[in-house]
Formats: sequence, structure tokens, C-alpha cells
Amino acid sequence: MLDKRNFYINGKWVTPSKPNDFEVINPSNEEPFAIISLGYKEDTDAAVDAAKNAFSKWKETSKEERISLLEKLLKIYKKRFDEMTEAITTEMGSPIDYSSSTHTVSGQSHLEDFILRLKEFNFEEHFDSKSNNYISYEPIGVCGLITPWNWPINQIALKVIPAIATGCTMILKPSEIAPVSAMLFAEMIDEAGFPSGVFNLVNGDGAGVGTYISAHPNVDMVSFTGSTRAGRLISKNAADTIKRVCLELGGKGGNIVFADSYPNAVRDGIRNVMSNSGQSCDAPTRMLVEKSIYKRAIKEAADEAKLIKVDLASKRGAHIGPVVSKTQYDKIINLIKSGIDEGATLAAGGPDLPNNLNKGYFIKPTIFTNVTNDMQIAKKEIFGPVLSIISFETEEEAIKITNDTEYGLGNYLQTEDKEKAKRVAKKLRSGVVYINGNAADAGTPFGGYRQSGNGREGGTWGLEEFLEVKTITGWK
Ligand code: NAD
Repeated sequence: MLDKRNFYINGKWVTPSKPNDFEVINPSNEEPFAIISLGYKEDTDAAVDAAKNAFSKWKETSKEERISLLEKLLKIYKKRFDEMTEAITTEMGSPIDYSSSTHTVSGQSHLEDFILRLKEFNFEEHFDSKSNNYISYEPIGVCGLITPWNWPINQIALKVIPAIATGCTMILKPSEIAPVSAMLFAEMIDEAGFPSGVFNLVNGDGAGVGTYISAHPNVDMVSFTGSTRAGRLISKNAADTIKRVCLELGGKGGNIVFADSYPNAVRDGIRNVMSNSGQSCDAPTRMLVEKSIYKRAIKEAADEAKLIKVDLASKRGAHIGPVVSKTQYDKIINLIKSGIDEGATLAAGGPDLPNNLNKGYFIKPTIFTNVTNDMQIAKKEIFGPVLSIISFETEEEAIKITNDTEYGLGNYLQTEDKEKAKRVAKKLRSGVVYINGNAADAGTPFGGYRQSGNGREGGTWGLEEFLEVKTITGWK
């Protein structure tokens, strides 16, 4: 059993103010493998004080000093890459090869990209050549960073790195479900030699440390990734202190498959939803298929889902692992049952455990056909390996159904007709639209419309989230 009870505050691993043990469960075998502490107000206050004290010096550091420390951190991250993969695999059940090639790599690529963007970023500029006004971009201050379990190091890197890069100081509260990767990252920050208090980590749950952070008068900004439910609570709780609140929340992405899409579009869409066991905020969980190819598409979808193996996260290979926790497992199984009850057709998968497993939070890749957009399975973010297939007849109808959701994070479309692709992409109400499976490049902005959140992470946009903008007159 790993003992991970201490917090990282003011450059040291410290004992919590009071004991409050919490077991971290390996979802592949339902057994605890680490113990952390859930912090109290005293722990949160200590971390915020440390960040506040460190801010006055850290904000004055030069871009070059911060780049040099981030480059050191990158070297350490690469050196300890396999440890990160192991932590993520054990804490959230991502199969080891997938962890390494997507999760762990994401931390590295965000580090590399933010270093590049920081090098290019101008923190000061003249308003324009005729004006005597000057614009200065300044770090917002102490940041509270609250992250989820589903892409643990990806989400941490998208917040911690730009906060450091812009001269902010911070307290990170990772998900209590998957905190081990975050603690390893804290070790790396320690090893890189950042000044004490710049980065602090306190474990805790939403009702405790999460809530203390969002209401804290000395926290200037909260950057949160997680559920829309928690995003709402954080916004309300932060309102009294008028702090900046940046939210990256849930999604219910549509994937419009037109009749003229490339041959493998349906199968690729299935693979995309099922990867990470369906636990991605921008997963294309509603597949909209043009009526003329509907029969072929549902057959291909069911075939492809049956080809996806489900197995232990510790095993090598291209299978999917368990979902993260008993709570998530129960929620997903109930939603699968609700799909059956509401009259959708179960074309693959279902609520039973896969045949090869009798323990762990495993769910078979599940496909529903004959779904209408008003069913629970089409409306709710299931966050498991479950896809709903809906048919459409016209381009307008496909756009209408895709936009008929409270979310707006990632949408997808498949067609060989370039003009149609561009036309439809511009009409979809979401922060990202993926055409024909093309990936978003490093440094492009990521974020949501509507109840998928506000603000953008990644690249220059991600740096700007952590900055105040000041106008100074009479500069020349
Ligand atoms: P969650 O909202 O339950 O928890 C996320 C984090 O918030 C955890 O650290 C948790 O302890 C904390 N938290 C919970 N309630 C809180 C409160 N009232 N105040 C402060 N903190 C609180 O979400 P989760 O189950 O960990 O993650 C899955 C969710 O995250 C999904 O909805 C997914 O779509 C979303 N997500 C969004 C993005 C994005 O970029 N938009 C990326 C990844 C995940």
C-alpha cells in the first residue's frame, strides 16, 4: 500500500493538520493501493498563504527564468515518464499502452508546447504606433486549480504549466479518485527546484478542500475541470469574492456521419467513443447517421464494438480498461438500463460484465440504435463506453439535432464534401469541431460553449487565462 498522506506546501511534504485517511482504489481489481489524506480548511489556508507569500517574488521573475525551470521540469518528466504511466494505469484503469501513448504523452506535449508559446509571448506592448498607451499582461495572482480523474495529467498540465509560465502561484487539488499522478508531478516540480510556495498540492474532496478553495478570499482565480454539476457549485461559491472562474465541463458530442463519408468513418467513430472507456469530455457519444446508410452503419457499429476487447489495465495491448469507480460504474449501468427501458435497441454490449472478467468496474462497449434525441441516453453525459445512434435525413436536421443539447464541447463530422464540411462546422455550437477524424494540434484552444464551460485552455489562449490586462497611459 502506498502511503501518500502528506501534502506539498511551501516547498515541503508536510503532515496534514488532522488525519483523514482516504483509500485510492485500483478499478481493475476494486482493491485499495494507496492512502491519501483529505485536507481541511487549515491545510487549504496553509497552502494559500504559501502561494500568496511566494507571489510577490515569483511575479517579478523574468520569462527566461521561468522557461529555464520549465525546461528542467520537462527533462525530469521525460526521465520519470514510465512512473507516470504506471500511476495513471493503476489509479484510473487506463490500459498501460494507452496510458503511455496518450495520457503520459499529453503531459509532455503540453509542457513542450507551453514552453514554445511562452518564448513567443509578449507580456508588454504599445497599444499602437500612434498611441502613448501601453498594454501590460500581468499574472492574476494565486490560482486554485481543481482537476478531474479522467485525463489526470492532461488536465493538470493544462493548468499548472500556464500558471507557472505566466508568473502565478497556485494550490492544486487533484481528484481524490486519481491523485497519485498529481503527487508524482508535485515530486517532479520539487526536483526541478521551483521556489517554495509557487506550487502547492493539497488533496481533498469537493465538499472540503474544493469548496474552501473556491470561496477563499486570497485565491484570485479558480480554474476548474470536471462536471457541470460541480462547475455550477464552484461558480456560486466563488461569486462573493468576484474571483475569475474558468470552467472546463462536460459534453455530449455529436458525430454527424453523412452518406458521402470516407469508408471507415463509422468504425473510427466507435473506436473514438470507446477509447479511455468512454471517459472523455469530448467523446462523440451521439452518432448521427444519414438515413440512406443507416442500416449499413448500425451493422458496422455493432461489429466494431464487439471487436473491442475489455481487460485489465495492467495488461499490454489495445483493449479498453475498467471505468474509474463503483459510483461511475453504477451510474453507467443505470443509464444503459434506462436506454433499454425507453425503447432504444441494444445492438451491442449491455449491463452485464464482460465474460472474461468477474471483478473490477468493467463495462462492455455498448451500442444503442433507434435512439431519439430526447432519451436520457442521448441527453445525459454517460461517461462510459456507450454510444447512441440517431438517424437524420437532411443537413439542417443533423445540425439541429447535434446542437439540441445543453452542452457544446466537441462535435465531429464526416463527409468527403469539403464545402459541406466547412459549412456544417461553422454551424455547430461547440468549442471544437473535428472534420474527418483530424486531430487538434498542440497549442490550439480547447473549451466549451454553453454548459460545457467558459474560457479556453492550451497554447496562447491558455496563457491568457491566467493574466490580467493593464492599460497604462502616458507611456511615451
Ligand atoms: P467532478 O466534478 O465530480 O470532480 C472534478 C473535481 O472537482 C474533483 O477534484 C472533485 O473533488 C472536485 N469537486 C467536486 N465537487 C466540487 C465542489 N463542489 N467544489 C469544488 N470542487 C469540487 O468530475 P469528475 O467526475 O472528476 O470528472 C468527470 C467530469 O469532468 C466529466 O463531466 C467530464 O466531462 C469533465 N471533464 C471536462 C473536461 C473539459 O476540458 N471540458 C476535461 C475532462 C473532464
